[in-house]
Order: sequence, then structure tokens, then C-alpha cells
Amino acid sequence: MQRTGLLIILSSPSGAGKSTLARRLMAWDPTMKFSVSATTRPPRPGEVDGREYFFRSREEFLAMVRAGEMLEHAEVFGNLYGTPKAPVEEAMREGRDTLFDIDWQGGQQIRNSVLGKNVVSIFILPPSIAELERRLRTRGQDPEEVIQARMAKSEAEISHWAEYDYVLINDDLDRTEDDLKTIIRAERMRRERLPGLSEFVRSLNKEFESR
Ligand code: 5GP
Repeated sequence: MQRTGLLIILSSPSGAGKSTLARRLMAWDPTMKFSVSATTRPPRPGEVDGREYFFRSREEFLAMVRAGEMLEHAEVFGNLYGTPKAPVEEAMREGRDTLFDIDWQGGQQIRNSVLGKNVVSIFILPPSIAELERRLRTRGQDPEEVIQARMAKSEAEISHWAEYDYVLINDDLDRTEDDLKTIIRAERMRRERLPGLSEFVRSLNKEFESR
């Protein structure tokens, strides 16, 4: 049955496992579309333009905002990040779900937009702050001052946990992945997301009448 595409928003402080979980969800359901954000931050080793992010200059980014091409945008760690609108609208037309790895500011903006009723928002918490720091360090991708800045930002990010529909404590990646899939499966079956249901029930009623 045709259904409305979900906008699945994943937020968490860096190091809580969000990117790994996002990758696992994409592998689980290839029909799901990952929203590739634009950012003014420089690429990390291994990151490819158009795959992890669209890497843009500040001028290019601001031009996209002015042209109304962004669904939301925000400043994070001194860089601009934003969600291009067109791919999201396309996925929704196709009845496909979109997965967003964005911060609380982006979550808030999309939830408050005209697309808000299609949003399912999920916040991932680390089991402890010590574990969060350990994960940031073992990732080995960022210089010390960036790690410190990310730790400082974590507290602010976590303070927005109660704005989300679901909050998961990621103390076990496999279990959290399973919980995410359970949430998505259930949200897809919500009555208001299945516009074809009323027609189906009408057909059941016709069947009753013709008995
Ligand atoms: P990173 O630089 O580690 O890839 O991402 C830093 C933070 O920016 C993460 O919390 C990530 O979720 C957030 N982020 C990534 N893309 C977007 C976006 O398009 N909009 C917003 N608001 N945040 C984003």
C-alpha cells in the first residue's frame, strides 16, 4: 500500500554512535534515502564530496540559503551545515523515507516546517560522558582542540533530548540498531501515514453490501 515517506531525524552528541547507526539503517533498507547535507567544514580523510557531504565555500552555502534551496541550516562548531530541500521533496513524492543525521537545531526547524507531520525524531544518548569522550578519542580523526569543542557542545546537544519522539541509550550498537528498526517499522504502519487505508476499508464495505 502506498504510504507517505517518513523524515527520520537522528540526533546525538558526536561520539554517541549516530553515524554508524545511520550507515547500518541505510544498509538494512536500500529504499531509504540518506539526506546528504551541505557544509562549509573541510572534508576529513576519506570523505567524498556528494557522499558524506556537499563541501561548499561559505559564499556558495549562503547563496543556496538565499535561493531558498535549504530545508534548514545552522551553525555547528563554527561551520555552516544545511539540508538541501529538493532531494527530500523528491523522496516524499516517491513514498520513500529520508534519514537525516543533523543536530537539534536542524531537527527543530524541520519539525516546525510544513513537513513536520512526517517527522519521526530519535535522539541517541551515550551510556556515559566518559564513554562519549573515549569514543571521540579512539576515532582518532580530530585534533585535541576539536575533541574539546565537541565535548563542550555535547552538553548543549543533550539538553534537547526531550524534544524528540524517541530517546535511545546506545550502550550496545546491535541492540540500538534493532530498536531503531522497530521504531521505523511501527511508524510506517501508523494510520495517518497510509492514505490508501480509507479506500481499502471502502472496498471492504462494498464487499459487505454485496453479500
Ligand atoms: P560532523 O562535522 O561531525 O560531520 O557533524 C557535526 C554536527 O553537525 C553533527 O551533530 C551533525 O549531525 C550535524 N549536522 C550535519 N549535517 C547537518 C545539517 O544539514 N543540518 C544541521 N542542522 N546539522 C547538521
